[in-house]
Amino acid sequence: MVYIEMENIEKKFDKDLVIDSFDLEIKSGEILALLGPSGCGKTTILKLISGLLAPEIGDIKFNGDSVLNIPAEKRGAVLVFQDYLLFPHLNVEKNIMFGMKMQKTPVSIRKKRTEELLKFMGLFEHRNHYPNELSGGQRQRVALARALAVKPKVILLDEPLTNLDANLRGEMQEFIRDIHKREKMTTVFVTHDRDEAMLVADRIAVMNKGKVEQVGTAEDLYKFPKSCFVSNFFGSTNYIDGEVDGEFFVFPEGKIKMKKTNIDKDIDIYDGKKLKMMIRPEFIDINGPNDREHFSFKAKIVHRSFVGERILYKIDDGKQTLKVTTLPPSDYLIGDEVLLSIKLEHVWYME
Ligand code: ATP
Repeated sequence: MVYIEMENIEKKFDKDLVIDSFDLEIKSGEILALLGPSGCGKTTILKLISGLLAPEIGDIKFNGDSVLNIPAEKRGAVLVFQDYLLFPHLNVEKNIMFGMKMQKTPVSIRKKRTEELLKFMGLFEHRNHYPNELSGGQRQRVALARALAVKPKVILLDEPLTNLDANLRGEMQEFIRDIHKREKMTTVFVTHDRDEAMLVADRIAVMNKGKVEQVGTAEDLYKFPKSCFVSNFFGSTNYIDGEVDGEFFVFPEGKIKMKKTNIDKDIDIYDGKKLKMMIRPEFIDINGPNDREHFSFKAKIVHRSFVGERILYKIDDGKQTLKVTTLPPSDYLIGDEVLLSIKLEHVWYME
């Protein structure tokens, strides 16, 4: 298995710097998602790892050794493109065999591996079909099988699920995890869908404008984001502006004693320091407990939306409007006066 290090990478297209001071470590055998908005450089990172592109500055290492001088076909990192790029004139079986043929794998091994993959991927009955006779999901599976056939050390998936409908997406998300469990290779996949990243990946690297903003598990990124960019990517949230006064965070509604565990450790804390208190909408109770574990204040419901499994409220206290989510049944009405209780355990202070 391979661990990958990308160190201080810079990549330009003409004069445009699209990857800038990019550092990332991908652990051996993990599934890592590159998550970020369109154009932030995700596909470029996959191409750099695979060897299809070379950086102007920086190094890429597999198991501690630089691979910059190793050409793409010898690097052992296979990239599966978003539009599959299957050979239209080859049937499913021959598409899957293609890479092994190029590698001059003996025919008996080629046949055995292809048959095994056809069965595992649920493609056996389609083995004689051509790509234009397959559904999007089947084409996607052929592209994956073709990549896996050569037993890559690293598999790189560029938006593998984008072209599939919602049902197939769910199926393929599980499928990617199953394949990963079976083949145990280091996997990097690109997505701009945070749910997909959270469901499939062991860790997620959030990218913004050619840089890594933060890397971590889905739970870490959700609970302990280092920037508003990351916290917004992981769902709706409230930010309450305030400043530090001794051991307290002072904000328009009052003051809260700050706990070290709720503060990003990279922040320098001093009196007068301006901070944002982040609190997710599900960690504010309506007419909930008013005790040491909560900070409570009066407010009025100004908006209510029913979205099936949750009810979303906007609640105003005259100083600011906060978003609150509850589970049904919850039948507060617009205009109701309520007591809001922020769960202190779940607040997070950031710059
Ligand atoms: P998307 O989610 O839309 O696929 P992405 O995050 O994968 O986007 P990239 O495809 O890596 O982004 O592109 C990053 C930037 O580099 C974009 O501004 C893109 O226009 C530019 N770019 C990518 N490839 C080339 C190229 N071959 N020549 C010039 N510019 C390029």
